[in-house]
Amino acid sequence: MTVMSFGSSNGPGVPELSIVIPVYNEEANLEELTGRLLKVCRNTGKTFEIIFVDDGSRDRSAEMLREYAHRYPGEIVAVILNRNFGQHAAVMAGFQESRGRMVVTLDADLQNPPEAIPDIVAKLEEGFDVVGSYRKNRQDPFFRRFCSSLVNKMVRACTGVMMTDYGCMLRGYSRTVVDAMLSCHERSTFIPVLANSLASKTTEIGVPHSERQAGESKYNIWKLISLQFDLLTSMTTAPLRMLSVLGGIISLGGVLFGLLLLVLRLAFGAEWAAEGVFTLFSLLFIFIGAQFFGLGLLGEYIGRISLDVRGRPRFIIKEVIGGRAETTSANQAVHG
Ligand code: UDP
Ligand code: MG
Repeated sequence: MTVMSFGSSNGPGVPELSIVIPVYNEEANLEELTGRLLKVCRNTGKTFEIIFVDDGSRDRSAEMLREYAHRYPGEIVAVILNRNFGQHAAVMAGFQESRGRMVVTLDADLQNPPEAIPDIVAKLEEGFDVVGSYRKNRQDPFFRRFCSSLVNKMVRACTGVMMTDYGCMLRGYSRTVVDAMLSCHERSTFIPVLANSLASKTTEIGVPHSERQAGESKYNIWKLISLQFDLLTSMTTAPLRMLSVLGGIISLGGVLFGLLLLVLRLAFGAEWAAEGVFTLFSLLFIFIGAQFFGLGLLGEYIGRISLDVRGRPRFIIKEVIGGRAETTSANQAVHG
C-alpha cells in the first residue's frame, strides 16, 4: 500500500491550500517550523498540503524532510532536488508539485512567522491573484536593507507596479497565476515580479519580521548581485535600449561640437583651433556614439530574442462562460 505514497496523498480530493517552502541547509529551523506550520494550517480548517523543497542541502535537512513526509502523510510532501538550484528554482519545483487552489510561499528561516498565513489566505479568498507582503520592522543588517530599498525603488520605477517590498517571500498566489508561472520557460526567474506581471488583482499586507532564527543567510554578495540581475532582466529590456539612446546623445554632441568649432574657426581664424585637434575630438565623439548606437541596435534584437525564448504566455484565460470547458470537464489549458 505504501508503494506510491509520495506526491499523491491518500486524500480524496485536491487540497484547498498549498504551502511551498524552499529549504537549503536549514536543519536547525525545520523542527520548530514544521510544528508551527502544522498548527497554523490545521487551525484554518481547510484541507492543506505543506510542500518542502530541499534545494540540495548538505546538512541533515533532506533526511529530516523525508521523515516528516512519512510521519504526516497527506499533510507534508518532501520534494528533494538533486543539487542546489537556487531559491526561486526550488519554489518553482514546489509549485509544480502543488495542487491547491491557493498557494502560499514562505522561507524556512522563520524570519516571517507562519502565523501570518491565515491573513494571506483571507486576502486570496477575497479574490486577489497575488498577495504580497512587506516586512514591518525589518530585522536585517543595514547594508541589506539599504540595497533592497534601492532595488525596490528601481522595480517600482520600471514596472510601475506598486509593491512595497519585493524581497519578502511570504506571499500568496491563486492557482491561475501559479499555472501561468509554470508555463513560462525562462530559467532565471524572480518569482514576485513574474507573478505580478501575470496577475490582474494584487494587494499586499504588512507582516512582522524577526531575525533569522538559526543558521546564517544563504545569500552571499555574489548571489545577491546575480539575484538583482535576474530581477532586472526578468522585468525589462530597457537597459539595452539605453545603449542606443546614449549613443545617439554622444553622436549628436559630436556633431554639435563640430558645428561650434566651424563657427569659432570662421570667427577667430585658423590658429585658434589648435591645428585640428578639437576637430578630431568632435569626429571621435561622432564615431563613439555610432558604436554605442550599433550596440544598442544589437541589443534591440537580443531583447526580442530573450522575450521569445522565455515563452511567457501571451494571454491567460481566467474563465470561459458557456464554452466547451464547462461541458467537457478536466480541461485546463493555460498555454496560448
Ligand atoms: N534557499 C534555497 N536555496 C538557496 C538559497 C536559499 O532554497 O540557494 C532558501 C533558504 O533555505 C530559505 C530561503 O531560501 O528558506 C531564503 O534564504 P535566506 O533566508 O538565506 O535569504 P535572506 O533572508 O537572507 O534573504
Ligand atoms: Mg531569510
